[in-house]
Amino acid sequence: MKGKSKGSKEKTKSFFLTTPIYYVNDRPHIGQAYTTIATDVLVGFKRLAQGKSFFLTGTDEHGSKVFESAQKANLETQNFCDVNSGYFKKLWEKLQIRYDYFVRTTDKRHEEAIGVFLEKLFHSKTEKGEPVIYKGEYKGLYCLGCEKFITEKELVDGLCPDHQRKPQVLSEKNYFFRLSAYLPQIKEKILKDEIKILPEERKKEVLGLFKQNLEDFSISREKVKWGITLPFDPGQKVYVWVDALQNYITAIGYGD
Ligand SMILES: [Zn+2]
Repeated sequence: MKGKSKGSKEKTKSFFLTTPIYYVNDRPHIGQAYTTIATDVLVGFKRLAQGKSFFLTGTDEHGSKVFESAQKANLETQNFCDVNSGYFKKLWEKLQIRYDYFVRTTDKRHEEAIGVFLEKLFHSKTEKGEPVIYKGEYKGLYCLGCEKFITEKELVDGLCPDHQRKPQVLSEKNYFFRLSAYLPQIKEKILKDEIKILPEERKKEVLGLFKQNLEDFSISREKVKWGITLPFDPGQKVYVWVDALQNYITAIGYGD
């Protein structure tokens, strides 16, 4: 009896599965095909077993890397994105992938939802009454050849591998998200499995991050040209990770 009632409850749950959204700086590769086929198989099974399911995939299209790849290909950036995003769609068609929605981060729907999301954050306060978003100074290594910030990991013998030159330490005014105000709550939710991370080793990995010095993080860039314009400061673009990761909620209606 117990098992039966659990079974009928299961049937009403909807199942949402997404692939990562793929970066359009190049054409699809075998690893992306593998992930998408695996997703298709799992969603196909859930569809038969549960009925209600939603399968999301799409392409991640902003940031300086896409901008540079477009320049190298001698194409206007949006056109370059259209072409490469099209390769993904064509491949999924050939592989008979049955996704429900294909999100593109340059879609008007997504861009507008990011505006809604950031406006909401901009007008929010923490429990202590501090603004969630504030303007601060972002400091990083900047390569004049690349015209962008690069990370220490990307350097080869202290030099930019593309330009064989030493990057400068440069700073710009950016907007920051006050992550530090939320760290204790996030940690507790992960520990209690209210935010469930599987497999267990990944959960441990994320919890390990809390032991490092986690800081507030920059959500905008002044020098990046290809991105969503910050709704409360037209001189800045939304940092690509802040824009791209929201696709998993904008694709299912956040901000509509
Ligand atoms: Zn460089």
